[in-house]
Amino acid sequence: MSHPVAFHPSVAPITLPESATWPVNDVLALFDLPFNDLMFQAQQVHRAHFEAGDVELATLLSIKTGGCEEDCGYCPQAARYDTGVEAKKILPLDTVLDAAREAKANGATRFCMGAAWREPKERDMEKVEAMVRGVKALGMETCATLGMLKDGQAEQLRDAGLDYYNHNLDTDPAFYGEIIGTREQSDRHDTLRKVRDAGVHVCCGGIVGMGETRANRAALIAELANLDPYPESVPINNLVQVEGLTGVVGDRPAHAVAE
Ligand code: SF4
Repeated sequence: MSHPVAFHPSVAPITLPESATWPVNDVLALFDLPFNDLMFQAQQVHRAHFEAGDVELATLLSIKTGGCEEDCGYCPQAARYDTGVEAKKILPLDTVLDAAREAKANGATRFCMGAAWREPKERDMEKVEAMVRGVKALGMETCATLGMLKDGQAEQLRDAGLDYYNHNLDTDPAFYGEIIGTREQSDRHDTLRKVRDAGVHVCCGGIVGMGETRANRAALIAELANLDPYPESVPINNLVQVEGLTGVVGDRPAHAVAE
């Protein structure tokens, strides 16, 4: 016996809040949608701006691993946690360019270079600028994540050909002090402003799975949605528990998200 296929009416499209900003409660209302409705609405937004099947591939390379002086409680690269991650020197230019060529051959169109620094020193900047120039010359979009920037450094990176700078807001400002003690979230906004002022695109997201509440998550999303202009990329990372992380999240199960 055949059954008629029932087409359900479209769920209402996501409507922008009446105010110019996203209240946290509006984000929480999105969180409350049934998953399929959320996926459907997300697809409507996607298809309004991109080809239906479009997925952008980006490859991230750690150009300088470990030994970081910051205390981000989720990060095995922080020198103060005994996670087995050794502090390494910055990679040679050729190694980075070989990795970028391989990424391009595998379909990536954006190549991101990440360094475990609180902030880049001037002597590092020259090396990173050479990497940016080299990757750009391969015809890829360039991205870097190097920590906090001083005045003028965003312009240096832009002039080398940097398209995107990644700098995450990490988590809800109200939860920030539980996760990171060596900086304030306002320091992140300072660097984001410098990146914007230099005309470099912003890649800015956060991390979940650190014991934050659902309301903390919604507050982070609202904060990201209220950046003006919006970040061009929004990476949302899920905590990978690593043995030896003794920071604030180290002894919490990654799935422990309280209501
Ligand atoms: S600044 Fe970056 S590399 Fe350093 S501890 Fe924090 S997340 Fe890790």
